[in-house]
Amino acid sequence: MLSIFRGLRRKRLARRPFPAEWEPIVERRLPFAAKLPADERARFLLHLKVFALDKDWFGAAGLVITDEMKVAISGAAARLSRNLSLNLYDELRTIVVYPSHYQHPDRDGTVVYGEAHRWGQVVLSWDAVVSGLVNATDGHHTALHEFAHVLDSSDGAFDGTPELHDHRDYHAWAKVFSQRYFALKASPNTNVLRPYGATNEAEFFAVATEAFFEKPRQLKLKAPDLYQELVRYYRVDPSATAR
Ligand SMILES: [Zn+2]
Repeated sequence: MLSIFRGLRRKRLARRPFPAEWEPIVERRLPFAAKLPADERARFLLHLKVFALDKDWFGAAGLVITDEMKVAISGAAARLSRNLSLNLYDELRTIVVYPSHYQHPDRDGTVVYGEAHRWGQVVLSWDAVVSGLVNATDGHHTALHEFAHVLDSSDGAFDGTPELHDHRDYHAWAKVFSQRYFALKASPNTNVLRPYGATNEAEFFAVATEAFFEKPRQLKLKAPDLYQELVRYYRVDPSATAR
């Protein structure tokens, strides 16, 4: 039943007009959106709007949440989901934003830039979100990374494999992802992917997602099989509009 109510809520939010004051923020913070084909841009803005209106936003450590933050962060979620179903983010209820990196209370004060909890919360540092947006082609984007984790866990398992569109997709996915994961583990410093992706399969998927959207041409050239699996999953081809 819960999912029916969520579906109705999403429909109601989808009918609300896109807030005019958000448009300049999209232009400034999410310049890639201007390069999308018109239909894809419309879906992107729809996903952004519904996500921003649907989630609960909390500023931590005294941070006041602004429209700028909501739009920029929802833009990362929508960038991943624009050709997928918005209900993939249903389990996610709350976005917590810290001003900058923060000390994790359960991890001996480890410095953290973002994290995704399976129980419905993503925690981000605004500094890290901004640096992800400003350095748009370095393959490091905290918000994309955390939302990739959310997509990964939306099938109930946090294991580096989200729910694929067809059961026949799993075979090739497993083959390509395990080969590329072990290749990254073997030579983490000479890879198109950030070394952090060698941590485990879940981090590998999140790091591969960052590279897919931030340096698609390079990924396509260096790891064409991995690139194709991500095209099939995300149903987008970022290399077509990349610089
Ligand atoms: Zn991660």
